Amino acid sequence: MKNLQDIKILYSEEVLQSKIQEIANKINEKHKGEEICAICVLKGSTPFCMDLIKRINLPLTLEFIRVSTYDGDSSTGKVNHLDMTLPPLDNKNVLIVEDIVDTGFTADFLLKSIKLKNNTKSLELVSLLNKKIARKIDVNIDYYGFEIDDKFVVGYGLDYNGYYRNLPYIGYF
Ligand code: 5GP
Repeated sequence: MKNLQDIKILYSEEVLQSKIQEIANKINEKHKGEEICAICVLKGSTPFCMDLIKRINLPLTLEFIRVSTYDGDSSTGKVNHLDMTLPPLDNKNVLIVEDIVDTGFTADFLLKSIKLKNNTKSLELVSLLNKKIARKIDVNIDYYGFEIDDKFVVGYGLDYNGYYRNLPYIGYF
C-alpha cells in the first residue's frame, strides 16, 4: 500500500467529467435514433462506465464481463477470462467500455471474441485512457479520452493491487 499523499494528480475529477461528457456527445451524435448495448469490463472500467452511460441519452442496456491481465503494476500479457457471460448480441450496437488500452491484448481479445460469437450491427470500443506507446498489438479505439505516457496510473477504477479504485481522479506515484 503506497501513501495517498505521494500521488501526483494527472487528471482531476473536473477534467475527467468534462472529457466524459465530450465522449458521450460523440456517441450520442453517432448513434442518434439507435440503441446501445454497453459492456462494462470489470473491475477497472466501472466508474468510467457508470459516468459515461449517465450521459448517453439513447436507449441503452448494460452488461458486465470480467477479465484480468495485470499483476501489481505490470501486464502479464495473458488475458484471463474470469466471466465472459453475455446475452446474444446479434443486430445490436455494442460498445465495449474500457478504462485503459495499454498493450492492447485485452481489447483485442474482447473485440475478437465478441465478433466470433455474434453478428452485431456495430462493435465499438471506448477507452478513457490510451497508452499508445505501450501497444504490442494493433487495436482500433473508436473513442478515447486521453493519450498518456508509459506510466502506471491509479484512481477512478484503476488499481494497484486492488487499491485506489475509489479515487475520483487519476494519478501516479
Ligand atoms: P492491456 O491488455 O491493454 O495491456 O491492459 C488492459 C488492462 O490492464 C486495463 O484494463 C487495466 O486493468 C490494466 N492496466 C493497464 N495499464 C494500467 C495502468 O497504468 N494502471 C493500472 N492500474 N492498470 C493498468
